[in-house]
Amino acid sequence: MKKAILAFGLFASTLTFSQTYFQQEVNYKIDVTLNDKDNTLSAFEEFEYINNSGTALDKIYIHIWPNAYKNTETALAHQLIDMNNNSMQFAEPEDLGWIDSLDFKVDGLEAKWEYHPDHIDIAVLHLNSVLKPGEKMKVSTPFKVKIPSGDISRLGHVGESFQITQWYPKPAVFDKNGWNEMPYLTQGEFYSEYGSFDVSITVPKNYVVGSTGDCQTPEELEFMTTKAAETAKKIEDGSFSKAKKGFGGADEFPESATEMKTVRYTQSNVHDFAWFADKRFEILKGEVELPHSKRKVTTWAMFVPYHHTTWQFAGEYLHDGVYYYSKWNGDYPYNNVTAVDGTISAGGGMEYPNVTVIGNAQSKEQLEVVIVHEVGHNWFYGQLGSNEREHAWMDEGLNTLNEVRYIQTKYPKNTRLSDMMMGFADKVHLEHLSHHDMNDITYNMTAEFGIDQPIELHSADYTPTNYGAIVYAKTGLVFTYLKDYLGDEDFDKAMSAYYDEWEFKHPQPEDLKTALEKSSGKDLEWFFTDIIQTTKQIDYKISSVKADDKGFTVSVRNVGQIDCPVRVDAFRFGKLVESKWVERGSEGSVHFDGKTLDEFVIDAGKQMPDLNRNNNYWKDKGLFKRVEPMKVEFLFGDNEGDKNQMWMSPALGGNKYDRFMIGILIHNQTLPKNKFEYTVAPMFSIGRKNLAGFGDINYSWVPAKHIKMITLGLGAKTFGHGLGSAPDSLTSPRGTYYAFQPYATFKLGKPDVRKFYKQTLKLQGAYVLEDGNLYSNTTMGGYLNYNFKYKKRRNEFSTNARFDYFNYDSNAGLANLTGQALNAHLTLDYKFTYWPEQRKQLEVRAHIGQNLMTSGMQNARYGMSLGGQSGTQDVLYEHWMMGRNETSGIYGNQRIENQGGFKTTSSYGTSNGMIFGSNLVFHIPYVPFVLYGDFGMFDNAGTMETVYDAGAGIRFGESFGVYFPFLESDNLKNSYPAGTKYWSKIRLTLNMNGLRPGELIQGAL
Ligand SMILES: [Zn+2]
Repeated sequence: MKKAILAFGLFASTLTFSQTYFQQEVNYKIDVTLNDKDNTLSAFEEFEYINNSGTALDKIYIHIWPNAYKNTETALAHQLIDMNNNSMQFAEPEDLGWIDSLDFKVDGLEAKWEYHPDHIDIAVLHLNSVLKPGEKMKVSTPFKVKIPSGDISRLGHVGESFQITQWYPKPAVFDKNGWNEMPYLTQGEFYSEYGSFDVSITVPKNYVVGSTGDCQTPEELEFMTTKAAETAKKIEDGSFSKAKKGFGGADEFPESATEMKTVRYTQSNVHDFAWFADKRFEILKGEVELPHSKRKVTTWAMFVPYHHTTWQFAGEYLHDGVYYYSKWNGDYPYNNVTAVDGTISAGGGMEYPNVTVIGNAQSKEQLEVVIVHEVGHNWFYGQLGSNEREHAWMDEGLNTLNEVRYIQTKYPKNTRLSDMMMGFADKVHLEHLSHHDMNDITYNMTAEFGIDQPIELHSADYTPTNYGAIVYAKTGLVFTYLKDYLGDEDFDKAMSAYYDEWEFKHPQPEDLKTALEKSSGKDLEWFFTDIIQTTKQIDYKISSVKADDKGFTVSVRNVGQIDCPVRVDAFRFGKLVESKWVERGSEGSVHFDGKTLDEFVIDAGKQMPDLNRNNNYWKDKGLFKRVEPMKVEFLFGDNEGDKNQMWMSPALGGNKYDRFMIGILIHNQTLPKNKFEYTVAPMFSIGRKNLAGFGDINYSWVPAKHIKMITLGLGAKTFGHGLGSAPDSLTSPRGTYYAFQPYATFKLGKPDVRKFYKQTLKLQGAYVLEDGNLYSNTTMGGYLNYNFKYKKRRNEFSTNARFDYFNYDSNAGLANLTGQALNAHLTLDYKFTYWPEQRKQLEVRAHIGQNLMTSGMQNARYGMSLGGQSGTQDVLYEHWMMGRNETSGIYGNQRIENQGGFKTTSSYGTSNGMIFGSNLVFHIPYVPFVLYGDFGMFDNAGTMETVYDAGAGIRFGESFGVYFPFLESDNLKNSYPAGTKYWSKIRLTLNMNGLRPGELIQGAL
């Protein structure tokens, strides 16, 4: 019965397969001539289009992608601007590119064509008569390409080094979903029809050409082989050491030969054709014997002489890359594989069939990774032609898996990630990080901060960070995990089955799933839905370990969001003894035989992307059975998961009252971050001869939906404050404050959509005791703050709504003054970047503050301030002030740039009723100065007063500024105490809250 159903099922699936799957075929013949003086290509193309679909076609979509570089309205230009890349926005006309002279003929007859209504880099060719299923036609056109600057994207030239990619008119894919026409993008790759190419390239005779296909021109093969022999000799006799970059050096281009040469290349079973030309290229020629068929493939490496120190090893990397990828996925089906040295803006390298271009590599290790990765795309892109634009992970992710596996196989003890830190790693305890760890840390960073996106997503919808962190890193990780689960042998068998079935075809995600399930016999639904399609996080823990007379039963529990298989590793004296898998189901247990086993770990090899490894350990000794004992390190380090890590460093500090402070900073902040974090910095205050310092503990987590991250925390600090002390006395005891601040932060919004805005809601409480020798104050209160930030292209907008509440009790010895206040603040802030290359902006800001409730003593401390909060007005102790209760001198000039936003040192404009402030800041071109002007009004005990000022200064956002007033309204001018010198009016803005490393990392992400 079971068998019959299975057989029927197989039959049915083969049947549907043969009925629905089809693939169009396009065979090209192109003649092209490079003009290296005006950076153009003149060409004639003819392609045969075979309609294998069941649909009669009356038009075809043709990509004419050089037009993506034509103006700032193309999809490419828009994407670059959104990514803060101004290479097109401010390009000189000669740096742009386009395609023209198109004149399409179908089977020799003139045919009508037009631009796609939205994209000038897509043409719509209307056929004179429909192309019926099974029919073929010949389409021809001349074309001319202006080659853009290589700084923009993938097609381009850097001087006389040419990268000729996406350069010819090319039909879009027509598949079961219809036409897949798409504009060219930098972030977002390709989807193309398979077929054959016959391309003749004419260039000045002294160019070296690296290209898709097999060279069919004997003179050129001889030229290349002779060059390769010369290069080999130069490496042998060391004459390369003179090749240096720079003035008069080897990076200068030799004159182009006046005589031209035509080189012909042919290739079948590819879906693109790219070529590269450079007169400076050196050549390494090699050979690799394929592991399965033993067929031989020729390897070519082409590089500029001044890169010889790294590139002389390129032959080995090409050889090993082709060998291992063939071994694991299926033999390389072509005759040549080429890597060329090039400078492109699109990442570290770029793949094309048979030929890859490699960007500047800093070291030979980096060069190896990039060459192997790009060569690997001959499988995941070249031979398995999935739709990369929509399912980028199918290429980049599977390729990353193979790339990591290559490094781990060839260098089992590799510390690739640490090596890349160039000597810094061992100083901060990061000396053991491998190539695999790089992906682990990258993914963890985005997931821990709640900014990650699913693996299955359209390329253009990823944030640039996630395009790397998710498409490459996370997909590589999850397939490493799947490989670990299926076992190397079954995984390789399944990948070979996938390869066999889909070679030179267009597999979809479900085809990969079917192939892997069919081969492995396992249900992989959990993998292809929860892991591939969502941002749900994996977290398993060891819930119990029970000993019996035979050994141990280890139970695991799912405390994350994905139900998936987990591997439990059993150790004795630190050596792995046995591994067992607990299949899906939120709870499960496995039994290990052996009374002397002493340690059990979930996924000890870190193959599974478990976001919280602290609960993966159980050890049969010590006080803390589930975790290793505390490990103390200097400064900072990575999250090892199996250890309770603590980092220490000396801490120094200073302010007016404490003078100088010395102490120790202790924290557990790591990369990736822990859910629970603490920081304490106890210090000794020289000024007060007393304890000072600060601390913070917080717990963050990422809920499944709608909120990116929630953090609950408690901050505390105690320093000198100067109230109630004899001013400027070194001998009298100084006042001390103690502040306790519980807080809850919510980062709002769905994590899985690319957005240009961020929303944060924060609730912070405060209990502050100011203990002076003459009096003491107690303030209880807090604030609720909602912040919305939008940033796209040259515009930045933010709005902030905040409610402050204070309840204060001031005991000044003679009188006991109490009161409370509730103030509301609304701030709008708009910044326009009028000159992005120099980051020059125009800033416009408005703020309105309104008292909603007040009772008891009216107190300027608790009022609202046009000039922003002074240290005294920072009654919730949110900010770091160098002299928080000073009214004069350099310390008195420090204020926070908030509330009314005036850039004055005067306290004039403080109100318990209402304030309104508006501010303009203009960043002057060429010099690091700004001009500012402020205009505002405030309720001065029942009378509305108007205030303004203007001046110039230096400014770095709202965090740092020095302002020199030129002009002040009379009321402001008269508000300074008699005899105030000009320098006392120089305003200093210093807000260190926005400058803490954690906030900077989060802001950058
Ligand atoms: Zn790639």
